[in-house]
Amino acid sequence: MIANLAADVQAFTSNVFLVEGDRTVLVDPGANFDVVERIRARTDDLDAVVLTHTHRDHVGNLEAVTDAFDVDVWGYDPAIEGVDHAIGDDERVTLGSDEYVALHTPGHKDDHLCFYAEDRGILFAGDLVFQNGSFGRTDLPEGDRETLIESIDRVLERISPDLSEMHTGHGPSVTTDPYDHVQLAARMARQA
Ligand SMILES: [Zn+2]
Repeated sequence: MIANLAADVQAFTSNVFLVEGDRTVLVDPGANFDVVERIRARTDDLDAVVLTHTHRDHVGNLEAVTDAFDVDVWGYDPAIEGVDHAIGDDERVTLGSDEYVALHTPGHKDDHLCFYAEDRGILFAGDLVFQNGSFGRTDLPEGDRETLIESIDRVLERISPDLSEMHTGHGPSVTTDPYDHVQLAARMARQA
């Protein structure tokens, strides 16, 4: 079960996905709103926090969450403050009741990860791509358009065309032909 706890939040925040199951995980704690209260409304036992990347709008609430639930934090680069454990490229990680593979996908930020559950056809895309062919900013520090395009291409090679759900760092999740949205982003990123 995947819920976006920031769906109706107007503050400057990323989406925040609570993935419930055998291992209840928060994918990105977001920023500038009371996410702890929203987690508590759904569950008392959060098992872990997993980060797509460490931009402020994704991790502003991190300390509030780790304080409230006494959980550890997984991300690509444990040298970054707040990241307790590394998830390497191609490493397996359990979110909810499903096994995902982590895909290191720089271009928007160096520590960016996507998470893909092949069995379920679910992709957490972070800020790599969004609905309707939008893609992550590359004008911030560590941003690089060519690298972003390579990362999108790599995800396209990895995911199945019958992908069923894509959950992005901003905007609505895509549940109708999400593969086409990733393909479109690969084209748009080359044109922009
Ligand atoms: Zn970002």
